[in-house]
Amino acid sequence: MKKIFLSVIAIITLSSCIISQKTDTKKVRLQFIRNATLKLDYNGTTFLVDPSLSPKNSFMSFVVPNKNLNPTIDLPLPIDNITKGVDALLVTHTHLDHFDEGAKTQLNPELPLFGQAFDKKTFEESPFKNITLIDHKQTYKGTTIIRTKGKHGPDQLIEALGEVSGFVLQAANHPTVYIVGDCLFDDEIKNTIKTYNPDIIVMNTGGAQWGGAKILMDEMDAIALAKFAPEAQIIAVHMEALDHCKTTREVLKQKAKEAHVAITIPKDGETLSL
Ligand SMILES: [Zn+2]
Repeated sequence: MKKIFLSVIAIITLSSCIISQKTDTKKVRLQFIRNATLKLDYNGTTFLVDPSLSPKNSFMSFVVPNKNLNPTIDLPLPIDNITKGVDALLVTHTHLDHFDEGAKTQLNPELPLFGQAFDKKTFEESPFKNITLIDHKQTYKGTTIIRTKGKHGPDQLIEALGEVSGFVLQAANHPTVYIVGDCLFDDEIKNTIKTYNPDIIVMNTGGAQWGGAKILMDEMDAIALAKFAPEAQIIAVHMEALDHCKTTREVLKQKAKEAHVAITIPKDGETLSL
């Protein structure tokens, strides 16, 4: 009888520990800016992810040759409002919609910048001086930044499109965040989800077409990913800002509803508490 009583006490204590651990988990503030640019307050650091800060129609179209048609929309907020409070930059790759002239001219060049070795030359030619190329992982002010991989298109276009990264952020008492980057939904992404079990997944789902092929997840891939990670909060971005992106927020919203999956689709400038 005494044994049973002690076991019950042990279970109660263990459960309350688990509950209090859950309660202690800190919130993450994510402000979506435009396309893949987002401001993430995580473990006391404000990361600006994939800074593309140029005004509307300031860089090349991905559809019509020799025309500056991108981005197709302006920034939703004054630039100072976006750059204010930023502590560090995370750059998944250096295509213009992720790292542009606006970022190079508007941000403090002393800010720490984390990116991939493939973009070394582009970073060295930029004004940024404090560059860390992440091979696998790096710690910054108590946050572990893990570089993840993926493919920005089918095999025949990989050479033209180059290497891309994603990032997983981990910290004690914080939800694990996985920023997928410009990737197709494949086994690499599934393995990353299985390995890190993220609580929050930010996926780029514009369904971009280039070189006659899909080079970014579309609405059906988004639903497949959401079904693959049913416990995670899924945030979909990289829509309605570039001329080669075919998936709209409305299409994704409709398809997600039909498929009974929950996907959060922020408006430009919207802040989420996760
Ligand atoms: Zn992109």
